[in-house]
Amino acid sequence: MTGRILIVDSVPTNRIILRVKLSAAYYEVVQADSGQAALSLLRRTAPDLVITATDLPDMTGRELCATIQDQKGGLRIPVVILHREDDPGERLASLAAGADDVLTRPVNDLVMLARLRSLLRARDAEAELQLRDDTRRALGLAEQGADFIAPGLVRLVSPPRLPETRALKDGLEARISDRVEVIDPEDALRELARAPDVVIVVEPPGSTGEALSLLPQLRASRDTRHSALIYIAQPHQQREAASALDMGANDLLSSGLDLDELAIRLRKQIDRKRTNDRLRANMRDGLRAAVCDPLTGLYNRRYAVPHVSRLAERAALQKRPYALLLADLDFFKQVNDDHGHAAGDAVLVTLAQRLKDNLRAADLISRWGGEEFLVAMPDADRNAAKRTAERLCRIMARQPVSLPNGKRITVTLSIGVAIGRAGGDTGPLDLVARADEALYAAKHKGRNTVVMADTVRLLTAPKSAVSDTSARRARLT
Ligand code: GH3
Ligand code: MG
Ligand code: MG
Repeated sequence: MTGRILIVDSVPTNRIILRVKLSAAYYEVVQADSGQAALSLLRRTAPDLVITATDLPDMTGRELCATIQDQKGGLRIPVVILHREDDPGERLASLAAGADDVLTRPVNDLVMLARLRSLLRARDAEAELQLRDDTRRALGLAEQGADFIAPGLVRLVSPPRLPETRALKDGLEARISDRVEVIDPEDALRELARAPDVVIVVEPPGSTGEALSLLPQLRASRDTRHSALIYIAQPHQQREAASALDMGANDLLSSGLDLDELAIRLRKQIDRKRTNDRLRANMRDGLRAAVCDPLTGLYNRRYAVPHVSRLAERAALQKRPYALLLADLDFFKQVNDDHGHAAGDAVLVTLAQRLKDNLRAADLISRWGGEEFLVAMPDADRNAAKRTAERLCRIMARQPVSLPNGKRITVTLSIGVAIGRAGGDTGPLDLVARADEALYAAKHKGRNTVVMADTVRLLTAPKSAVSDTSARRARLT
């Protein structure tokens, strides 16, 4: 993976050493010797990541980090702060100030490059989700409301019998408000009731990196696919630590366990996962909203058209007939006029429910237009389709609909039915037009009735057929 990295350090030799390492790993490097120089390069070169020293001539590394992260618009740029010496307090302060990661000189090259790859991967994944979210917004699709945020679930994968495990659990619980559960490494891949927000994989003392092999499996497992994974290596396991990030871990404690640092890193991972979950949920809900009718909850025409095409293809392959029913409420305008629009809506909702209750799960029920519903029935021949349509008409005619004002009215239905025959050459949309002609004939016949499309030519008189049909077609488009 390549990317452009901005190095900010006032000491030329520091910049050169880092530049050589990064260039060898195929990163493009830009350099600045002060905070201000960095900020102006940021605008001109749009780096993918920034590595800054702690002390700059005109500001601290943390101040630079805060300024970068406050910038509005565009993508978030990960910032890594490079410390001169290992001081746990300083490291914590940098992480708490918003640094995406903290490195200490002398830098372990393997670990540093793995961390940079991991940060860039996370940034790409977020950018992708953000892009989809922007598209969703551009489409005008609704956003999920900001729900009450329940405490997170942290799964600690570590042998429960070890005193270290208990100490880690207690230590974490004292620092975070999220739930912590302990799972034996043997059971780490078992699906449990609730998917964890974060899985912490701990390399126990004396181990030789066995826990590492869990990471790719957890990443691939359905339960933990979207969970953040944190790997805690033993201090001597720098090689394992470096590979952990490429094997699926999102973050890492590479120089032993520091509970305060773990708590901060945990918080960041939970926040990041929440944001990504929300973006994913928005996308899913947005897609649903795009293909569903909000009043009845049925699929809309946008969904029904490709569905009917697929149904036709499958019917041709299986050499079985399929049926399209186009149902339209009779004198529905009158219902609105007499009882109000809300009453009309209640009739539509009731009809949708009755259709759902009286059709097979495999039948697609969609709201085709205002008070028109298209039912697509796979594997249905002429007789079955006719019987079903007649049953639906009877159900509507016999059972009055309750209106919001308490009144009950009877509203009837007319249905046109067209059959797609195996080996027939009528395309699915032509078949919808045939059902529409049959529906028109049913209205013509007096309503509250079913007309089969293959009888329509007989029903409509030759003189009116041409103009009526073209008028119907015109209305369809
Ligand atoms: P026909 O028996 O010939 O079908 O007559 P109709 O009155 O049912 O048909 P027309 O096409 O004249 O009127 C359809 C009415 O459906 C007009 C429109 O206001 C109403 N309508 C369409 N969508 C909705 C809706 O979502 N809610 C309500 N309440 N009314 C709707
Ligand atoms: Mg109508
Ligand atoms: Mg209509």
